[in-house]
Amino acid sequence: MSLSKVKHIVLVLSGKGGVGKSSVTTQLALSLTLKGHSVGVLDVDLTGPSIPRMFGIEDAKVTQAPGGWLPVTVHEADASAGLGPLRIMSLGFLLPRRGDAVVWRGPKKTAMVRQFLTDVFWDELDYLLIDTPPGTSDEHISLAETLLQKARPGQVAGAVVVTTPQAVATADVRKELNFCAKTGIRVLGVVENMSGFVCPNCSECTNIFMSGGGEVMARDFNVRFLGRVPIDPQFLVLIETGKTPRYPKGTVVDGQDFSSADGAPAEGGESRDSALLVHKYKSCSLAPIFATITADVIADIERRQQMPSRKG
Ligand code: ADP
Repeated sequence: MSLSKVKHIVLVLSGKGGVGKSSVTTQLALSLTLKGHSVGVLDVDLTGPSIPRMFGIEDAKVTQAPGGWLPVTVHEADASAGLGPLRIMSLGFLLPRRGDAVVWRGPKKTAMVRQFLTDVFWDELDYLLIDTPPGTSDEHISLAETLLQKARPGQVAGAVVVTTPQAVATADVRKELNFCAKTGIRVLGVVENMSGFVCPNCSECTNIFMSGGGEVMARDFNVRFLGRVPIDPQFLVLIETGKTPRYPKGTVVDGQDFSSADGAPAEGGESRDSALLVHKYKSCSLAPIFATITADVIADIERRQQMPSRKG
């Protein structure tokens, strides 16, 4: 069974689309490998799989092996750099035209999700991150049911719930937290994405929207608040053009100075840097924020693992 070599499964959920669920999945995956863990990402967002684009591997081909698919390698392990390997499987790889959203009806979606969980040949993985569709749709319910049936007790570590300062005001994210409670999936914590703005011109990180709502909501639901992630246009430049993030002089995010030597931000146009995404990401102002979030999630999972046997 494809999940048998996976130690921990983490779901990434959001109440609605566009809040940065795939970006958070991507950055959790990169941060985990930077801490030396072996990581897989399974993209079951059939409504618009964006994981291949995030990792810049849209043209990759998955290999069909007897009884399943082999995931695509984003980077191999590099013991000398303390880097773990990263592999991806996305429905996006199987679509005839990239960017096509899947319009299958419920039963076909359910079958696909099931197949995704059981028919991908993952090697030994410390963490499998599952990027789910937004909301609490058919796919979620099917995914939760299948996971709980197929996984070993304790293998599903829980869910990271992504929201934005604006989305907190809506009922969507609360629905997501209630969904976790109903399906028995533990909430590892809430990330408030797009909370503030790292300005590419003035080196200030400003709160353009109200921020802090995610923390209040987490407290209301008695779940952990993992942190605030600002909008960083250089993260977009990295994803869209493959260029290493660069910041003006005096850019300090979360107490860390990110100014580049010549003080100029990277812009579109020139060719991409050939370095691995994971190494370029280390220059992004969001990297230390995700290093902290990831460390918190790992510590929580490991602490729980050491507790005398409990369900879930
Ligand atoms: P979702 O998976 O929730 O639909 P995405 O992760 O695809 O959302 O994010 C939507 C868009 O916003 C993407 O283009 C993504 O790169 C961008 N984005 C998300 N979070 C940030 C951030 N913190 N800083 C800059 N851009 C971001």
